[in-house]
Amino acid sequence: LVVLDNVNKHFGALHVLQDIDLTIHRGEVVVVIGPSGSGKSTLCRTINRLETVDSGGITIDGKPLPQEGRELARLRADVGMVFQSFNLFAHKTVLENVMLGQLKVRRKDRASAAKRARELLDRVGVGTQADKYPAQLSGGQQQRVAIARALAMDPKVMLFDEPTSALDPEMINEVLDVMQQLARDGMTMVVVTHEMGFARSAANRVVFMADGRIVEEAEPNQFFTNPRSDRAKDFLSKIL
Ligand code: ATP
Ligand code: MG
Repeated sequence: LVVLDNVNKHFGALHVLQDIDLTIHRGEVVVVIGPSGSGKSTLCRTINRLETVDSGGITIDGKPLPQEGRELARLRADVGMVFQSFNLFAHKTVLENVMLGQLKVRRKDRASAAKRARELLDRVGVGTQADKYPAQLSGGQQQRVAIARALAMDPKVMLFDEPTSALDPEMINEVLDVMQQLARDGMTMVVVTHEMGFARSAANRVVFMADGRIVEEAEPNQFFTNPRSDRAKDFLSKIL
């Protein structure tokens, strides 16, 4: 579904993505882990073209990423993204946040957008919060609204960049549970996370990055019990 072919990217002298080859199959859940600064966020951001690449190709459904205009807006809808900071519109209600993209990008009418928004808010467990403003919700609730907002676009793939890192511990599981359910429902997902429990139980594949490269790719059990590279062994010894 998503193919990165020999992707390279620099920030000035920093070679932040080096010869990245990665294929994400439909329905697959890929967890990306690695030390700070290894390029995980940049990798996510290139997939929905928040960052351009210097060389190499990225395709979704066999089509190269569009560069601008309405095609680019549609790509951003097809590739849902959830960040560490929830990025909800503060001056709009929860319901309006989940309706907005459906109206503007998917060109739905208000009634069907509202209906879909309420369904999704129910699904992520915040249906009763629909008429509140983001600031009136807990962090965990806001992040679940952000997930609902991305899902409202009927994305082909969902990218999560450390979605629980900004949350108080007691709220982490309510967000991971929603993601776990999405994975079970067959959503194609790329998840950058330090939650190794989630990686073990939800991932089909773990991608370990260091210094802008994919150092190791493995099935989670194999990766956590028997990492092949010294970089991965060293990383796991620090976090587990
Ligand atoms: P973390 O675990 O801390 O989130 P990461 O693996 O997500 O790290 P990236 O955010 O992708 O790492 O950053 C990779 C490298 O690129 C870092 O050295 C970072 O400082 C640098 N970098 C990221 N964005 C930019 C930018 N817009 N301009 C210049 N350098 C950048
Ligand atoms: Mg990051």
